[in-house]
Amino acid sequence: MQVILEPLADFSPAVKHGKGWCPYCGRETAFGWDFRLNVARCLGCGISERDFYVRKFNNLWPDGSLESYERSVKKAGLEYDAPFPWEKKKPKINIPERRQCECELCGKVVPAANNRQKYCSDCSLIARRKKERDRKRRVRHGCQPPLNKLRGLPWRGQGQLVD
Ligand SMILES: [Zn+2]
Ligand SMILES: [Zn+2]
Repeated sequence: MQVILEPLADFSPAVKHGKGWCPYCGRETAFGWDFRLNVARCLGCGISERDFYVRKFNNLWPDGSLESYERSVKKAGLEYDAPFPWEKKKPKINIPERRQCECELCGKVVPAANNRQKYCSDCSLIARRKKERDRKRRVRHGCQPPLNKLRGLPWRGQGQLVD
């Protein structure tokens, strides 16, 4: 529940200058015109002149005083344009940029799962098959290092020994 703050008994708001007693701010405030809703609103808290207590303390009734108050607010020239609560921007969350990889075979730039990724998904399949084929070929041609004999010697993978 909101607290209603009454003005002192001898208070008379400067309604002619577009001001008024705001029972929620607890003081005389300037009212601004809200062009979106076509109401006058307290520049402090945003309450409109349609509120019962705002009317009560500023004597704004449909006898004409309400309309003349609205004219006064417009004439005073202040605008209420604070964003609606749902317009307030959410704080930005920093999302790390997605890693990308330029495929070494086709050159396509694709999102990468990690820094070591070399190919796009299509080419990674091709590359894997090629690697497998090459390995089998090496085995078939007897180029695979005879590990028992060459133990301790470096192997370059193409069937030749390095001094
Ligand atoms: Zn207020
Ligand atoms: Zn590719």
